[in-house]
Amino acid sequence: MNVMATLIDSLDAPPAGNERPRHPEKQSREDSPVLRKPDWIRVKAPVSKGYSETRAIVRSKNLHTVCEEAACPNIGECWQKKHATLMIMGDTCTRACAFCNVKTGLPAPLDADEPRHVAEAVAEMGLHHVVITSVDRDDLSDGGADHFAQVVSAIRAHTPETTVEILTPDFLRKKGAAEIVIDSKPDVFNHNLETVPRLYLSIRPGARYFHSLRLLEKVKERDPLMFTKSGLMVGLGESREEVMQVMDDMRSAGVDFITIGQYLQPTRKHAAVDRFVHPDEFKAYESMARAKGFLMVSASPLTRSSHHAGEDFAKLKAARAARAGV
Ligand code: SF4
Repeated sequence: MNVMATLIDSLDAPPAGNERPRHPEKQSREDSPVLRKPDWIRVKAPVSKGYSETRAIVRSKNLHTVCEEAACPNIGECWQKKHATLMIMGDTCTRACAFCNVKTGLPAPLDADEPRHVAEAVAEMGLHHVVITSVDRDDLSDGGADHFAQVVSAIRAHTPETTVEILTPDFLRKKGAAEIVIDSKPDVFNHNLETVPRLYLSIRPGARYFHSLRLLEKVKERDPLMFTKSGLMVGLGESREEVMQVMDDMRSAGVDFITIGQYLQPTRKHAAVDRFVHPDEFKAYESMARAKGFLMVSASPLTRSSHHAGEDFAKLKAARAARAGV
């Protein structure tokens, strides 16, 4: 699953009864140490009326959200405004990344009604901008590319004024899949590099850094006007120089928008937090990224790929227009 990882205060709640563990492949791992979170990571409990309404819409359409599945720390704030990031193609991922809280295992077949349900939910939530992500579906011959494209088309047909941002898997070893998704014409194509190449083997073992980078480059080659976006988690043991190199790689691939947020450990079986990066260091990363030519930068401890995505999309368009002198 390709989303920046998240928080928890309730580490390792054991499955009730005979329920299957969420991450069976991690059960035999040693527990990782858990660092106490600094003050700048604290978030409010999700209790608002808007939160309950968003939850009701998601449940009534039988949909999944990465906000819940990844235990995102921003859920209280986002759902109050009905900004949920819908996660398509089920709640079970075929990868087993060391940072991600999404359930792993063999997924159920695709739900043919899902594109319609997603489009209806977007309309009910009244979204001007929606972010759609998915689990990795290595079990499908096209990695779920056609289903992704159907979801984008259904939203376009139902609410043509809504702008669509997709946060995709890497479609590794799925020839022609990326092209299907690009040709569905989302407004923003996001694919997270997640971490620096040195840490891929331990943090994102099923993925390949240069394949992910190439995917982003391919989007720009096929549709130069499509906005591209990518994210990094920090606090996993990367150095400043490595982060700067990833920024350069992204710029070489034409990425417009970079997001950088603090990695938070979902359970004791997931990768440990190496350190909590101070907010001032995020500001320094933001300055570096702007100097390297990104149109948009979001760098803060609680930055996530989809956080404030609607407002940021408006800024992204304005930044492109300003640079073009329009
Ligand atoms: S930041 Fe993204 S994943 Fe987290 S709650 Fe907001 S919309 Fe959901």
